[in-house]
Amino acid sequence: MRWLCGCLVVVGWISLAWAQPVRPSSESAQAWDRFQKALRAGRFGLVTGDPRAALVESVGQSLAAQSRRPIPWHFVLVNLDEPNAACTGEGTVYVTTRLFDLNLSRDELAGILAHEVAHGSRQHVEHNQLELQRIGKTLDDRQAVLDRSKDLESRYRSGKISQDEYESQMERLMIEARKVGRQIDQAQSYVQFSSSFSHAQEREADMVGLQYALAAGFQPEGLMRALEKLRDQSVREYGEKALLGSTTHPPLPQRIDRLKELLRRRGY
Ligand SMILES: [Zn+2]
Repeated sequence: MRWLCGCLVVVGWISLAWAQPVRPSSESAQAWDRFQKALRAGRFGLVTGDPRAALVESVGQSLAAQSRRPIPWHFVLVNLDEPNAACTGEGTVYVTTRLFDLNLSRDELAGILAHEVAHGSRQHVEHNQLELQRIGKTLDDRQAVLDRSKDLESRYRSGKISQDEYESQMERLMIEARKVGRQIDQAQSYVQFSSSFSHAQEREADMVGLQYALAAGFQPEGLMRALEKLRDQSVREYGEKALLGSTTHPPLPQRIDRLKELLRRRGY
């Protein structure tokens, strides 16, 4: 399962937050657009008029209310042959029909949705996209320095600039090249550690999701039980190799153990 895949403050601030009108933020509008694009691309179909869709919407909205962000949230059911739940950014969460094959209780479904709402309210998707944009810009900068150096070389060889001009312009280019080189080193270290970064987001979503689930009146162990059911089904269908995890997500047994530890620390 891919899991794309929040203290009390002064009372005055809370009343102010609640008084704000419910309007899409630019992040939530983009998240909804991303979902619509995936629909148009045929990645999955939207399921409406189904009691499961109504359940996803009602449980999801009760959890989103705990995030205290005055934006509209969409909770939708899609037709996809893999048990999954995902957040496309702040305000949009979808659940696949296959997830319902796990025979989840209401608390277990709430545990899964709470985790996704936490990814959304903490803007994990948006953060990751900014990092990727930064990496893309750095690669563009490197290409620009290479192009300018080739151009300088060719102008010098064809006698359009003097040796002095060539050397002084090349010196400036080398300073820029060193700066871009340092940015590339940073970008490479982000890519290298992005899986552990993603694991940090997963841990945060587990912790914040637990707060939302509890505040909305659900049992604290919902997500852990849901993952146990997913683990058992995965082993039945694909054998032990299904438990190895991926580069972006920890293996299921590890996630379950971590949730057990989180619940133990919180006294549940
Ligand atoms: Zn997650």
